Amino acid sequence: MTLVFTHRYLLICFLIRLTSSAVVPSQDSISLYTANDKVVILTGQNFSSIVYQSKTAWLVEFYASWCGHCQSYANTYREVAIDTWGWRTVVRVGAINCYADENGPICDQHNVAAYPTLRLIGPNSFINGSKLIHLTATDAKGVERELIKELDALQRTDRNWPNFAPIADVGLENIYSYAPPTVKLVLLIVEKQDDFTGRQIMLDFSKYHEQLVIFRASTDGKLWGQLQLNLTDIPAVFIIHSNGTTERMNTKQNMNENLGSRNLLNYAIRSYVHKSKCIDNFDDRDLEEIIHSKNALKKSEVKGTNEAQGAVIENQKLNMVDLETALSYMLRREVPRIKMIYGETYDALLHWLIVLTKYFPGRQPVMTYLKDLLSKVKQQPNGLSGKQFRELADINASNSYLPNNQIRYIYCTGSAPQYRGYPCALWLLFHTLTVSQVQTEFQNTHVTEVPSAIKGFIKYFFGCRHCSDNFMKETNELHQLDANDKNAAVVYLWKVHNHVNERLHGDETEDPQNPKIQFPSSNLCPKCRMDKTNFDSASTLDFLLKHYSKDNFDLSSVENPSESSNKKDQIPSRIDQYSMIEINHDFKQKSGLFSYLTSIVQRFSFYFLIFIVIIVLYVRRRHCKIIPFL
Ligand SMILES: Cc1cc2nc3c(=O)[nH]c(=O)nc-3n(C[C@H](O)[C@H](O)[C@H](O)COP(=O)(O)OP(=O)(O)OC[C@H]3O[C@@H](n4cnc5c(N)ncnc54)[C@H](O)[C@@H]3O)c2cc1C
Repeated sequence: MTLVFTHRYLLICFLIRLTSSAVVPSQDSISLYTANDKVVILTGQNFSSIVYQSKTAWLVEFYASWCGHCQSYANTYREVAIDTWGWRTVVRVGAINCYADENGPICDQHNVAAYPTLRLIGPNSFINGSKLIHLTATDAKGVERELIKELDALQRTDRNWPNFAPIADVGLENIYSYAPPTVKLVLLIVEKQDDFTGRQIMLDFSKYHEQLVIFRASTDGKLWGQLQLNLTDIPAVFIIHSNGTTERMNTKQNMNENLGSRNLLNYAIRSYVHKSKCIDNFDDRDLEEIIHSKNALKKSEVKGTNEAQGAVIENQKLNMVDLETALSYMLRREVPRIKMIYGETYDALLHWLIVLTKYFPGRQPVMTYLKDLLSKVKQQPNGLSGKQFRELADINASNSYLPNNQIRYIYCTGSAPQYRGYPCALWLLFHTLTVSQVQTEFQNTHVTEVPSAIKGFIKYFFGCRHCSDNFMKETNELHQLDANDKNAAVVYLWKVHNHVNERLHGDETEDPQNPKIQFPSSNLCPKCRMDKTNFDSASTLDFLLKHYSKDNFDLSSVENPSESSNKKDQIPSRIDQYSMIEINHDFKQKSGLFSYLTSIVQRFSFYFLIFIVIIVLYVRRRHCKIIPFL
């Protein structure tokens, strides 16, 4: 009877343990990509073994999951990975989230100063072998073209590497001799010198490089004269026979011309190979996968358009934890990404630190920490490296202290890990500083002192480059602030932020549980609205001054120096940090005795399980001892 009960209990405990541990987000859950994407998820742990010295090149996106532009860009990058799926014997597509602590060193190795950054790492490369791909192109096709240019520039001579260079002085009769002995089909694509189609097709079929060889010829080589083509005929594909004779492939069969030349040529080559059966093990599996993934991506794009779900739930009270976490991430991770801090960058940093020491409404150890940091930076008037700055920012003492948490947010916790967090807390910090300037008695301060320091910080140090560029445009009238109006900066930043909210409302960066609204909502400040769209200036200013005042910050959850020195590690692991967020959520959300008891059972079930196992073993041992005497 006891044993039956114990077994049942063991099973129940095991199930409870399983469900409760599944609540803690895994490291993968902060990635913008999933295993369903064609993008390989790279981490600090797998990067070296997968990427360095790989036989293929690697296109790597370095991003931060908090960065709004990275979130918007993720679908473009997914599309790049799908479009280049057939190229994977030459180049693979991966992404690494620089926000995750454990990935930081890899991002530093590749000098990632802004998110997202694309880098191409050549085959058999070591740590420093990465090349920057300029993201001038914002669409997948543009990125693919940039990628082809970079692959072309690598000038590899490996057998599986396509020979991108157009053949110039070779006649038709000699082309075949340039193919490997295993070749079964030789094709020649004739196109304009700067056209990408030929190179795309070479990569599309690169998997069959032993049997299918594709050459390129342009309009200025010897072959152009031999083939007697018109410009309107190209791009054209020729089958080259071993005796030097050629056969032009029909690339316009049964296909919609709007599909573009890459698809037309690809389809024609596939049809020919299927009919002629000249290539062993030729199949359309890659193509099917590409079509399937593209359809799935299209569906997710339709679903991904965020719809505001219900009314905004806003807290009256702000939390100091958010500001301290943002400060820690900014000073220990964002600023040190900049390799050399000197000249204008140094001035911007100094200005920013001065503003923080003057106006941050922090507790005593945090203010001392900021002042100490400022004085150490001042001692390096010629500038310092990001690494040196990080060393200075890392110093914590009991009386000069900034918690080392980098992802613990309370007010700014989103409904999913990629939402809110750092940029949300940055906005709170900025508004708080503008209000604090009004409420602090400093002589001879200029109304633009705080907003211009914010602008300098965003310009030189904010990792989301696209956000930074937008912000520069959106604040280009900053110098026009009325110097006689001491509240001008508070109102100005409120307007700029609402402008950003309007721009981002409904896009994929918006947390469905926290829609981007014109702030403050009528729930939060009923007096601020004259009607649905217009604000009452005086009441809104009044509200902002109260909302972002020092007194409106909850200090009850901040971490104290003594608490942190009791911990094994200064920087909690990501799982620990998420557990903390989970615990906060749990206590916020659950009420009543039943849910409280459930949470206790969940938390201690594992230890209870161990206890039960020990009891069972003990009982069984005693039982066994008794048997011989029976
Ligand atoms: C300088 C800057 C520029 C950015 N630019 C971009 C960009 O170009 N593209 C992009 O995708 N993301 C951008 N972001 C991120 C984006 O603005 C949000 O911060 C992010 O999407 C998180 O949104 P959120 O819902 O937490 O609210 P956030 O917009 O971050 O707001 C945080 C909190 O501030 C309060 N608040 C909201 N509006 C106002 C207001 N007008 N005045 C005072 N308080 C307010 C609310 O309590 C809100 O919860 C930028 C962030 C910053 C700091």
